[in-house]
Amino acid sequence: MLKVEDINVYYGNIQALKGVTLEINQGEIVTLIGANGAGKSTLLKTISGLLKPKNGQVLYEGKSIGGKQAQAIVKQGISHVPEGRRVFANMTVQENLELGAFLRKDKAGMKEDMERVYVLFPRLLERLKQQAGTLSGGEQQMLAMGRALMARPKLLLLDEPSMGLAPLLVKTIFRIIEEINATGTTILLVEQNANLALSIADRAYVVETGRIVLAGTAEELTSSEKVKMAYLGGH
Ligand code: ATP
Repeated sequence: MLKVEDINVYYGNIQALKGVTLEINQGEIVTLIGANGAGKSTLLKTISGLLKPKNGQVLYEGKSIGGKQAQAIVKQGISHVPEGRRVFANMTVQENLELGAFLRKDKAGMKEDMERVYVLFPRLLERLKQQAGTLSGGEQQMLAMGRALMARPKLLLLDEPSMGLAPLLVKTIFRIIEEINATGTTILLVEQNANLALSIADRAYVVETGRIVLAGTAEELTSSEKVKMAYLGGH
């Protein structure tokens, strides 16, 4: 479904990604594991068109999307939930969700998707008229995910969905990620909590200082000594 081939990405003179290659197959949950600053967010931003690779290719359904505008990429079926949620604080929950569908014209389909978001996140339905900025952190995460789903993505990019959330809420969010995946949406997940990410993922890549240093199935990486020592708390 998605192929990233040997991309190099820079911020000015700083090279954040160094020859990164990876692949995501339809229906999978793939997770990126790595320390702060390893380049995980940069990779998501490059896939969603917020950053352009200096060289290398990003292929989506066989076509290059590496130089395209973010909006065109959303339209093709890739939605990005950035780190730190970024909901529109002065708009209501409902308005935020509607904005997620702004590229779409199929009113009936949008209504259907809105209903689906309410089923996944009943909390949002209770708070439709509330200003998004007054939602709790967990509710804002739900809204950011709901808004991304309103674009009816085939591939959903999630950047640290558990950040700053209480353990119980993290469980809920991860259950919902599995539900979203079960209804056919492919997922690329960036997550600090490697244990949790590997528990729901099919495959994973380990990113260190801009490079992929390990790749495998979630089981393989969970039992890898290197991953255990560096990312799973040494158990
Ligand atoms: P984290 O989990 O802390 O978000 P990450 O793996 O997602 O880490 P990135 O945010 O992709 O890491 O950052 C990769 C590297 O690029 C880091 O060294 C970071 O300092 C640098 N970087 C990120 N954004 C910028 C920017 N806007 N300008 C300059 N350097 C940046």
